[in-house]
Amino acid sequence: MTRIDDLPIRDELRGKSPYGAPQLDVPVRLNTNENPYPLPEPLVARIAERVAEAARHLNRYPDRDAVELRTELARYLTRSTGHEVTKDGVWAANGSNEVIQQLLQTFGGPGRTAIGFEPSYSMHALISRGTGTGWISGPRNEDFTIDLDAAVAAIAEHRPEVVFICSPNNPTGTAVDAGTVLRLYEAAQAARPSLVVVDEAYGEFSHRPSLLPLIEGRPNLVVSRTMSKAFGAAGLRLGYLAADPAVVDAVQLVRLPYHLSAVTQATALAALEHTDTLLGYVEQLKAERDRLVTELRAIGCEVTESDANFVQFGRFADSHATWQAILDRGVLVRDNGVPGRLRVTAGTPEENDAFLDAVRAVMKENQ
Ligand code: PMP
Repeated sequence: MTRIDDLPIRDELRGKSPYGAPQLDVPVRLNTNENPYPLPEPLVARIAERVAEAARHLNRYPDRDAVELRTELARYLTRSTGHEVTKDGVWAANGSNEVIQQLLQTFGGPGRTAIGFEPSYSMHALISRGTGTGWISGPRNEDFTIDLDAAVAAIAEHRPEVVFICSPNNPTGTAVDAGTVLRLYEAAQAARPSLVVVDEAYGEFSHRPSLLPLIEGRPNLVVSRTMSKAFGAAGLRLGYLAADPAVVDAVQLVRLPYHLSAVTQATALAALEHTDTLLGYVEQLKAERDRLVTELRAIGCEVTESDANFVQFGRFADSHATWQAILDRGVLVRDNGVPGRLRVTAGTPEENDAFLDAVRAVMKENQ
């Protein structure tokens, strides 16, 4: 049997494993930060209508610049952040992972480096590797906030071309304030200047306002977003960014022509028509997230403050054994490899109850 390493693949990919959480068939799946609520029926009907219309033109390539979709995304951002954004400052791709990939293809690449403050979203490092960009792991404090002095020092020392700030941060749930972003931005501009990417995949779930208004007057600051979480549309694969229009022009240099299918564009436009209903679910999930934090603390867990739709909890002497024990009770959570900690996504009230019961039982057993 031929193995991957028998093939003439790039050296830096040898011995590596692909990213991906286990997709196990268990009753309660709270491991991939998905939205637990299926799209409402009127939206499903609207998607069918818009996709049928798109299907009539599938003999043609889609709108390469996705102008209507970017216009509607800009309208949503303007409405939800209070900061005026136009389509020229918005770009969309197949999930924010592709947005990040396009940014790294444009601003990173061989001979260049990117920095992130870990533990953080591991795809920042993996997409860096995939694009030939060197990776620098920056520090966090014990409480998982960014160690600002150490971060500024690391930027000055390594002079990376790309700086990732994930807020709210996956897997810890930690949000950063505007002052932190500004200090990191200034450090990054003094060192190079370099591109600063604020990954706000979970922005809608935060107790804090979006960091998006900071792009004003800062052409090297990008905010990336997704419809996978707040819009409950992980299966759609639609991510987007807001930045100076020059950044949008720059990513055109690397994007594949017609990367966003007509079906994707039609579906995303239908979902945006139902923004208010979908954001109603976000409010419910925020309340459930806060309940998880409170109840996990009451059970005796150490819980990291969360601004996302998930909660990091611990501490466990053997977090993998605890992960397995919770799974044995029918609830799948995530072991991100953060020592002593696990991560649970906020689900429906019933799913969260099942999870809390499982943790209570496991904690009792281990006493
Ligand atoms: N950024 C962060 C911080 C994430 O956690 C995720 C998904 N887990 C993404 C980006 C990518 O999401 P998508 O490609 O579905 O937009």
